[in-house]
Amino acid sequence: MKKSRLDDLIRKQENLSELNRNILEEIQLKKLNALLQKEKERQGFYASLPAFLTSLKELSSLPFTTADDLRRYYPQLFLGSSSGVEKVLTEKTSGTTGAAKRIFYSKDDLAHTISFFAAGIGEMTQPGDKVMIGMPYTGPGSLGDLIACGVRECGGQPVQLCGESLYDQCRHYHQVQPSCAIDLPVALLAKARYYEYLYGRGSFPLRAALPSADACCKAVEKALREEFGLSLFPHYGSREMCMGGAITCPAHTGMHLREHQVIGEIVDENGHVLPDGEWGELVITTVDMQVLPLIRFRTGDHTRFMKEPCPCGSVTRRLDQIRRIGKDAETLACIENAFFSLHSVLDLSLTERNGQYQLELLLTDEAEADAIQKTADAQNLIYDIRIIKTDDKLLYSGKRFIHHL
Ligand SMILES: [Zn+2]
Repeated sequence: MKKSRLDDLIRKQENLSELNRNILEEIQLKKLNALLQKEKERQGFYASLPAFLTSLKELSSLPFTTADDLRRYYPQLFLGSSSGVEKVLTEKTSGTTGAAKRIFYSKDDLAHTISFFAAGIGEMTQPGDKVMIGMPYTGPGSLGDLIACGVRECGGQPVQLCGESLYDQCRHYHQVQPSCAIDLPVALLAKARYYEYLYGRGSFPLRAALPSADACCKAVEKALREEFGLSLFPHYGSREMCMGGAITCPAHTGMHLREHQVIGEIVDENGHVLPDGEWGELVITTVDMQVLPLIRFRTGDHTRFMKEPCPCGSVTRRLDQIRRIGKDAETLACIENAFFSLHSVLDLSLTERNGQYQLELLLTDEAEADAIQKTADAQNLIYDIRIIKTDDKLLYSGKRFIHHL
């Protein structure tokens, strides 16, 4: 089996003739110490931390950085000059502080992400493949743009998905006949199901897909693999790590973290570091970010490092399935697993009012009405059914969540 392309990328970016776990960890420690030193010199947000660690193990003694810190203290977290900023992402929040979370990227940060995307995309594409991109393109440096650059870097032909409604998007798929796609997991499944409803069973053109940007429940993954025969290469990333974090290799078991640029830890609810194999919260230290490096940032994402080395032989560790921490994410995953195993379900949205969950279902048709009724009864859910019309959009435009009224 071919080794993850990430190993080649690390060798190239770090100018190494060989790579093993020790060398990788030396690189991590060196970059971490350089960052700590810089923070001390500039009296930045992390100035109170030690300027030097003798081993990576000592990282666990440093305090966490939270999403709230990022909102409150981003000017102090900001490293370097504003002239080095190529892109700013602002995340509006409904939180109590009212402050928006801002993340800044340099040209180098974006270039690292593009090369990393190319490593992940290159696992599923062959030169010349048309790759349909479902992530939004909102200009240079946007997620859609970085993905398109990554596709070109590995010889593919990026196509930005057109159409507001699911019907128009399926028509665009029909015109383009892409062989691969990069999209949110449910958005991808909805297109596959509606496409085959419109154009016939077995007609969906994709061979492989890279689901990303949201949690992918088991039922959605299973449907993409089994109903549509897709080879899946899930990706994990977050804004704090400049969108690119972990990619799937030909072994299709877990996602390799770009550990030469992001140091990962898994911690329990009390903040204690857990050994590989145990589930907890992912904490990241983004040692290579040029403008806004973070030390021990709590991602709020629940996962684990897989214990065994990957069959592909990569030196990097793999993250297992990822979901947000908290009851909402668990509830949503449970309901998604129950309903997306039904073939007519294109999308669903969940609303909670006074402890009662209400479900809205977008369906291709009413063929599974009885099974839907039974599933909803088993989950004690009130539900509404909507049969898709040509101007219907998906129920979420980005990450999925529960509406609370
Ligand atoms: Zn692997």
